[in-house]
Amino acid sequence: MELLCLDLEGVLIPEIWINFAERTGIEELRATTRDIPDYDELMRMRLGLLDQHGYGLPDIQAVIDTLEPLDGARAFVDWAREHFQLIILSDTFYEFALPLMRKLGYPTLFCHRLQVDDNGRITDYVLRQQDPKRASVKALHSLNYRVIAAGDSYNDTTMLAEAEQGILFHAPDNVIAEFPQFPAVHSYQDLKKEIVKASSRELPL
Ligand SMILES: [Mg+2]
Repeated sequence: MELLCLDLEGVLIPEIWINFAERTGIEELRATTRDIPDYDELMRMRLGLLDQHGYGLPDIQAVIDTLEPLDGARAFVDWAREHFQLIILSDTFYEFALPLMRKLGYPTLFCHRLQVDDNGRITDYVLRQQDPKRASVKALHSLNYRVIAAGDSYNDTTMLAEAEQGILFHAPDNVIAEFPQFPAVHSYQDLKKEIVKASSRELPL
């Protein structure tokens, strides 16, 4: 039994915070896990900036509503679901992701959630668990699945290491240089090739 685990932002959809930073002009919101590997530190900074500038969940959702999956992402997801059980393992929040998941045909999504007050202010965030991507792959192993995983950033690397095969997709040079044990590809066609290579079955491209 084989399962495919994919990161979401940077792999199937654009980076939500970077897009929000561009719309609002708040430069510091451009930081992602590529820049600040400690996720709690990154999120505390983001929530502080939102408060400071008076932005809440509806403002972020309005930006997300205008975003589209990356070019070719929907076709890639359809291919993946034809040949694998697919689970998206993301460090985003259900409150952010749902409009984009609709555009991807609602694949299964494991992520976090936000705490929001009546005025739309994001008061806190709730991580599903610590090291959630690695923990998910471990849990899937306990169900006797062989796991192939792909992601683009630091927060994916424990998931990639835990999987039978990890693949870097759209990763920046510093991540590729730091994790040479993972093949690194930059197009969906090449990602398919790596997945087919990693599979224990004969799969069509
Ligand atoms: Mg990502």
